[in-house]
Amino acid sequence: MKKISKKQGYWGFDTRNIDTKVRAQDDFYHYANGGWLRKTKIPPEESRWGSFTILRYNTEHQLKKIVTTTKHPLVRGVYRSAIDMKTRNKLGAGPMAPLRLLVRDIKTKEDLLKIIARLHVLGVSAGWGSMVDQDSKDSSRYALHLWQGGLGLPERDYYLLDKPEQKRVRAAYIAHIKKLSALAGASAKESEQISRTVLDIETKLAQVSMKKEDARDSEKVYHKLTVAQLQKLSPNIDWADYFERTHAPGIKTLIVGQPEFFKAVSAMIKTVPLEEWKTYLEWHVISDCSSLLSDRFIRENFKYAQVLTGQKKMRAPWRRALGATGVVGEALGAEYINRYSPAASKRTMDALVSDLFDVYENRIKKLDWMSAATKRKAIVKLRAMKRKIGYPTKFEKYKGLVIESDDYFGNMLRAGEWHHRKQMRKLRKPIDRAEWHMTPQTVNAYCNFGMNEIVFPAAILQWPFFDAKADAAVNYAGIGSVIGHEITHGFDDQGSKFDAKGNMKSWWTAADRKRFMQKSKAFVSQANGVEVEPGVHINGQLTLGENMADMGGLVIAYEAYQRYLKKNRRSMVAGLSPEERFFLGYAQMERELSRPEFKKLAALTDPHAEASWRINGPLSNFEPFYQTFNIKNGDRLYRSPSSRAQVW
Ligand SMILES: [Zn+2]
Repeated sequence: MKKISKKQGYWGFDTRNIDTKVRAQDDFYHYANGGWLRKTKIPPEESRWGSFTILRYNTEHQLKKIVTTTKHPLVRGVYRSAIDMKTRNKLGAGPMAPLRLLVRDIKTKEDLLKIIARLHVLGVSAGWGSMVDQDSKDSSRYALHLWQGGLGLPERDYYLLDKPEQKRVRAAYIAHIKKLSALAGASAKESEQISRTVLDIETKLAQVSMKKEDARDSEKVYHKLTVAQLQKLSPNIDWADYFERTHAPGIKTLIVGQPEFFKAVSAMIKTVPLEEWKTYLEWHVISDCSSLLSDRFIRENFKYAQVLTGQKKMRAPWRRALGATGVVGEALGAEYINRYSPAASKRTMDALVSDLFDVYENRIKKLDWMSAATKRKAIVKLRAMKRKIGYPTKFEKYKGLVIESDDYFGNMLRAGEWHHRKQMRKLRKPIDRAEWHMTPQTVNAYCNFGMNEIVFPAAILQWPFFDAKADAAVNYAGIGSVIGHEITHGFDDQGSKFDAKGNMKSWWTAADRKRFMQKSKAFVSQANGVEVEPGVHINGQLTLGENMADMGGLVIAYEAYQRYLKKNRRSMVAGLSPEERFFLGYAQMERELSRPEFKKLAALTDPHAEASWRINGPLSNFEPFYQTFNIKNGDRLYRSPSSRAQVW
């Protein structure tokens, strides 16, 4: 083991976090982070604690200063109304009474459908969902999308599987339905009946829901239908009336994610008795509204959430109230940018992003498995990919949204309807290419296939992802690989189906596509079967896109850093070479502690794999890592060259 200095100036990584008892060659994630993981405790209010969550937590403190001092009436109003527990406790279950009455007054199946439509407008989930997004095959237009839904548990398998974890969560959900119903006024006998009916209907919905692995497949969820065709597919729902009531009147065509689901729901409208549907709807009103009510409701919600997340303590009221400001997120974001976002980091980012695009293009040109014809198209797509960094050019003003500082419940319902109407208005408008799907204060990034763009909100442009004072190795490994990750999404198993204009349209030669699909299989088989908690494994198909993006991010960031080193002097820091520092910075980016309950939830629902895999997985496929740390056959991270997964 070489000598690593523990006394060092700041360079973005603290070598005291290295665990020298772990061999870098066997488990690099724990080697780089073991010291930190050992001395860090997950705060009781958290279910996970690491690079992303800590930065989010710090950002929340900045946002708290804004919401408690701002003069912006909407931001201030939402926050004040949310944190005013005195008023909320006084009102108890009262605010949701009008919605429950709507449900109780249902007398016919026609009424039932009208009320479902009304609830959808207000943002209450029931049965299915509708939203507006680009038409995947004609990205110059918006289209209405119908999507399966109506479940209370996180995912269909929680209803259908009898494995220990699904049974555990299901039992807790049943208890939760009973308790929340009782709080809303039901007797013990009624609560029992409600829980049985709800579980029965939701299980039926789960049985006809598309699996999550298929639901992330862009082709499997694209079914363009005329309204007449939809009506024929699901005759017991008056769709023209539903669209009229949900502010999408007169549409002629739409995209249905899961036709089989809608066929089955239509049948259920007929076969399930009206009284049972009413019970189901009233439960969804209570469940969706409960977080807007008094302490008693919030405490019960938290008790149920604990089963899923393992969180020990409820978050402080200010943090919960801050969460509510998401409904006016861009108004808050504009102030966040004014107070906290240095323009310099945006400029440095611009340069860094251009760097990475350069490297990407160069790598595509050199790929040995892709034909010249497909390469040309890939480069056209890459060059057309737009980059949004920091914050939008225009911020949403929320015109017409009424916010009262003593009416939290009303605020959130009005906001729900305001956002719903805004969505539906898009159907009559040209594509808004300036729109952002994340606020500037979000610690995250995304790739949008339909827009062919990658987006980096201001809040992620901070350590450990990016810090102007840190060593370039850490910045390239951090934000460099985040940028590479997002670019690669445009070329992952799904993104690669979309062309330069954002249309789902094959631009590959058949032989290249076949080779690409063959190569991507290695990611699935590597991740499949990695056990994250006893009996719960990573789902290779569900995490395929993210795992490919992680690999691409690493490869691109590393090469960009090598280019940087050619132009700048190589140096040793803390006794570490530039490459060693790069890999340490890379591992630091994903360091995270999470509770067992949360780990299981994430493995069963999240398309991102568990933290240590997100580091060790890509590294075990990456030759420069082998060279830097002298990985040999027999080391646990070793893979034979033919079994390594790499596409880009
Ligand atoms: Zn991703």
